[in-house]
Amino acid sequence: MPSRITLLGATGSIGKAACEFLQNYPDKFDVAAISGHRNVARLVEISDLLKPELVVISDENYFDALKQAVSSATHQPRLAAGKSGLQEAATIKADRVLAAIVGAAGLSPTLQAAKSGASIALANKECLVMAGKFLMQSAHEILPVDSEHNAIFQVLSDKPNEIKEIILTSSGGAFREFTRKQMQHITPEQAMHHPNWSMGAKISVDSATMMNKALELIEAKHLFSMPAEKLKVIIHPQQIIHSMVRYCDGTILAQMGVPNMYLPVAHTLSYPHRLPAPAHHQFDFTDTTKFDFSLPDKVKFPALNLAEQILNAGQASAIIFNAANEIAVEAFLQKRISYLAITDIITRGLDEYHADEPKNLDDVILIDNKARQIVEEIIKKID
Ligand code: NAD
Ligand code: MG
Repeated sequence: MPSRITLLGATGSIGKAACEFLQNYPDKFDVAAISGHRNVARLVEISDLLKPELVVISDENYFDALKQAVSSATHQPRLAAGKSGLQEAATIKADRVLAAIVGAAGLSPTLQAAKSGASIALANKECLVMAGKFLMQSAHEILPVDSEHNAIFQVLSDKPNEIKEIILTSSGGAFREFTRKQMQHITPEQAMHHPNWSMGAKISVDSATMMNKALELIEAKHLFSMPAEKLKVIIHPQQIIHSMVRYCDGTILAQMGVPNMYLPVAHTLSYPHRLPAPAHHQFDFTDTTKFDFSLPDKVKFPALNLAEQILNAGQASAIIFNAANEIAVEAFLQKRISYLAITDIITRGLDEYHADEPKNLDDVILIDNKARQIVEEIIKKID
């Protein structure tokens, strides 16, 4: 079992599950470093609970506020800020680093942590979408936190030829039953309300558009070295089955549990061992009377068609796909564009920008930046 853990993105929703887990096992783990972007109060609260050696605020404008808050806190850790602070947190001696920063901002620190030799518990799916090849090459171990990929990781055999397909389950999102017409008026507030999970703002919108499942298909391709034709999505609204692997002999192995992120976070932080979960994280079969399954509607959710295109395209397209989504989601949350415009804008971004394949991380960041500029221009024109 790893004993020194770092939490990158400790103040977010995944970070919250990690804090709950670590608090349940104060004698088993030491916390090396924690980071948060702007939420000083929560960062100091976690620092007092988990007593890390280093606390980093990644937006350096909040460094003074952090210093002041820590001066009256119980625990007195070393403090750092900004990009260099985040690098320090990513590379401080640790057995395992939880990569739970949201979006492209998590790419560099996750790669730095991987290169420093730590095993990576990876929640940040965007960095695999952007730079899957580089990250898989740099890391000696990646343990998927994303619940679907965590499920697959737990039931995947080491004989790839015997795997017929990987089946990612999806709740279908908050708007599974909406018509396209009803979708015209979806507000950010509605999109933030997921039927089964409580998550950060960006991934909540991604779930509502099914861009989350699109990103997850690409994530699965890299994590499990699977060709596009072996990756499937099935709607399972109860979300008790977190994903499945179908083998050539007809056997299907599924992983189940309550739909919350405590389970996969606990699994990846204690792997290769398992630690007892509290009673409220144990699934009760009398709670759910049936499991439903259906195929996703790709007309209502064009993100899934885009994913198929990206799965068969190169890395540059995946970077543009991810960047366009991040910008469009931000614009939707700011009420600059409609819900339906999100996938339209991603499609336009992919049509308008074609880049050469990246050869290294610098190329990835250049393509990401350029894609963001182009998509901002597209949005300004329809604003
Ligand atoms: P969140 O918004 O709740 O938290 C994000 C974390 O990243 C916070 O600690 C925040 O301070 C930090 N952060 C934000 N912007 C940053 C920046 N520019 N630089 C450095 N740090 C920054 O998000 P979340 O829901 O916890 O999701 C985190 C990641 O995990 C995402 O990539 C998401 O796709 C993935 N994920 C989340 C869930 C879930 O249920 N929440 C499930 C699977 C995967
Ligand atoms: Mg998921």
